[in-house]
Amino acid sequence: MHPTNEPLSYYRASANDHSDHPALQGDMTVDVCVVGAGYTGLSAALDLATAGYSVAVLEAKVVGYGASGRNGGQICSGFNSSFERMAERVGNDDAVKAWNVADDAVKLVAQRVADHKIDCDIKWGYMHAAIKQRQVDELEHMAEEYTRFGHDDVRLLDKDGIREKIGSDAYVGGLWEERAGHLHPLNYCLGLAKAAVEAGARIFENSPVLSVETEGSPKAHTANGTVSAKFMVLAGNAYLGGTVPYLFRRLMPVQSYILATEPLSDNLARDVLPEDDAIADCNFIVNYFRLSGDKRMLFGGRASYSTVQPGDLFSFMKPRMTAIFPQLSESKLDYCWGGYIGITVDRMPHLGRMGQSTYFAQGFSGHGLALSGMSGRLMADAIRGQAEHFDAVAKFKHPIFPGGRFRTPALVMAMIYYRMKDLLP
Ligand SMILES: Cc1cc2nc3c(=O)[nH]c(=O)nc-3n(C[C@H](O)[C@H](O)[C@H](O)COP(=O)(O)OP(=O)(O)OC[C@H]3O[C@@H](n4cnc5c(N)ncnc54)[C@H](O)[C@@H]3O)c2cc1C
Repeated sequence: MHPTNEPLSYYRASANDHSDHPALQGDMTVDVCVVGAGYTGLSAALDLATAGYSVAVLEAKVVGYGASGRNGGQICSGFNSSFERMAERVGNDDAVKAWNVADDAVKLVAQRVADHKIDCDIKWGYMHAAIKQRQVDELEHMAEEYTRFGHDDVRLLDKDGIREKIGSDAYVGGLWEERAGHLHPLNYCLGLAKAAVEAGARIFENSPVLSVETEGSPKAHTANGTVSAKFMVLAGNAYLGGTVPYLFRRLMPVQSYILATEPLSDNLARDVLPEDDAIADCNFIVNYFRLSGDKRMLFGGRASYSTVQPGDLFSFMKPRMTAIFPQLSESKLDYCWGGYIGITVDRMPHLGRMGQSTYFAQGFSGHGLALSGMSGRLMADAIRGQAEHFDAVAKFKHPIFPGGRFRTPALVMAMIYYRMKDLLP
């Protein structure tokens, strides 16, 4: 059953069988209290429960309700930033450590899917697609960085090369990666939850945390109970809202939407994406797409920085898809849904500590399928006393969004600027 009155996503409609979890009733004490049952929280819970910690996960709605159950399913490598830019900010050594964290993040997804036998249609093959020549130049720079870090799985493609991988005339070149790919995001999330429970974690659904105490021994309060813990992990990301003002001020929730067609015929599926890769273009306001396990086109994009949701999502998204794939103009549209991406000012994830023993991770800036799970692992490692990699990523300091409570209009203006920039040659 769909958990809310929001539009049903293809992912909810095709979710694997899974357990419901009770709501928190009364008070309890555990080693670690995790707020949020997306990839970040569940990954931390899984590692900590496996290491013998008692863990309670508090989820406002249901497992995978947030971005982890709604996203494009694209397993992206790296950060939403170049290595050069990272090194300018934190120095070469920490930038190298952080870069390696991102590499391990993708491997962790593959490892968890294999170890826990998560049925989530995982596939490898990912394309960064350039619409204009200046983006080809950016991809060449990116390829150089990847090669410098020993990745020999990347390939630059010219216009003819990319035309063999994407059935569209929209692109002039691309960078293909073998080690990135795609999966069914909700089924991956449900698989993580099952693994965490099997390792001994307890999950409480429909248990929104109303307030947290982060000084001294952490506590999370819900309407019907309190969890007291030695450590707390805050993993509510863009769905946490104003519950923790320090985090709220450094994160902007941005809506992104995904359209799912009916299952395509074998011929049409082969025509649009012959190699079943995941694709993201290089515009600031990204289009991202791929085929589902049952060969639907899942086409995402159209970030909206205002909090107003467009009325008819289908007609809002369809022109974006048919501009790339006119051959899909007659395909029936079955699902369209949206979700909040948490972005930071500079698009690097925001990890850190509050008080002595509360950890948080948020703001993966549309790049979090792999990085969020890895951040859960880094927090678990830090709680277990191994904070080297957590500290390297936490070194990136995050300014608050300018504009205070008026930041949304300011961001809408910024978006108009970037949309114009995407239109320039
Ligand atoms: C439409 C869309 C497309 C995307 N596409 C991609 C993609 O293709 N590739 C990619 O790498 N990334 C993508 N992302 C980003 C990616 O999905 C996220 O970075 C990642 O899922 C973040 O995981 P998380 O666990 O930190 O947060 P979430 O998955 O959002 O989980 C947070 C959870 O915390 C719960 N919560 C919040 N507040 C409270 C509270 N007070 N009490 C209790 N629980 C609370 C929420 O209900 C939610 O379940 C996309 C995101 C969206 C929305």
